[in-house]
Amino acid sequence: MATPRGGIDLGGTKIQTAIVDAGGKVLGESRRPTPTRGGPQDVANEMAAALREAAEQAGVETGDLTGIGVGSPGDADEKTGVVANARNLPGWEGSFPLADVLAKDLGTEVRVGNDVQVATEAEFHLGAAREFSSLLGVFWGTGVGGGLILNGKPWLGRGAAGEIGHMVVKRGGAKCPCGRKGCLEAYAGRAALEVEARRQHEEGHKTDLFKLMEKHEKDRLTSGVWERAIDHGDRLAEKLIDRAVEMLGTGIASAVNLLDVEAVIVGGGLGVRFGDRYMEPLTKEMHKHLFVDERPPAVRVASLGDLGGAIGASLLFAR
Ligand SMILES: [Zn+2]
Repeated sequence: MATPRGGIDLGGTKIQTAIVDAGGKVLGESRRPTPTRGGPQDVANEMAAALREAAEQAGVETGDLTGIGVGSPGDADEKTGVVANARNLPGWEGSFPLADVLAKDLGTEVRVGNDVQVATEAEFHLGAAREFSSLLGVFWGTGVGGGLILNGKPWLGRGAAGEIGHMVVKRGGAKCPCGRKGCLEAYAGRAALEVEARRQHEEGHKTDLFKLMEKHEKDRLTSGVWERAIDHGDRLAEKLIDRAVEMLGTGIASAVNLLDVEAVIVGGGLGVRFGDRYMEPLTKEMHKHLFVDERPPAVRVASLGDLGGAIGASLLFAR
């Protein structure tokens, strides 16, 4: 039997690891919070510790793994294993040879890839998009990320393809966390939604969003806080999420007009939480903008959940 692979999903709040066998079965997993201070080396140490925990659970030595894949934010260079500009990680504005450092620590080969792209590949090989050969993954969370599979193969462009969150849905529109204006993420990303909710709240618009945030001891408007507010009929929350869904439909339709993919997989924290609930308005908005409207792509919610990123990262050794 082929030896198992390791996968690490490096997120801004948590590090999720998994040991995965050749058939995609998860043999062990572990999760640790991402350090909020220090630098890349501190983050790498936590990643290695979390991977060791998963390996122990699976009953394998890290050195015996076929390899370990890492799904990383920022600019992850698959060829060099260097990760740069991971701005939501502590002290990671510059570049850091993550693959080399982890390989030395864990005793096997390490490859890095873009976090959203590897999660898309996981859905393609093992999740909601198994029967398709071309798809767009849309990861609706803190930001809005995208991944592409075309003709059965990952499409990375020159390394930065799939940035659907920064497609312009409104020229001169809302300010995006990337510093530009009118991007999809400026309307749909969780971070941008929070900024807008806070602005309107301070202007005197009524909302329970921030009360719910405090009640549930969160330091930000999590997808769970948004869901509770909407369940209570909070008008401001409804209005902002409705607009986010409209903008997602618009952006996705534009991407489909360009690429004509067979399927769109919606994942991410907000995507998994709201995907089914908002599937109808999302597809309705998308259909308005589709140029060829007699055969729209299948739109599905990602099915691998929290482990998708780590499983996808392990697939960097199955390409
Ligand atoms: Zn942007």
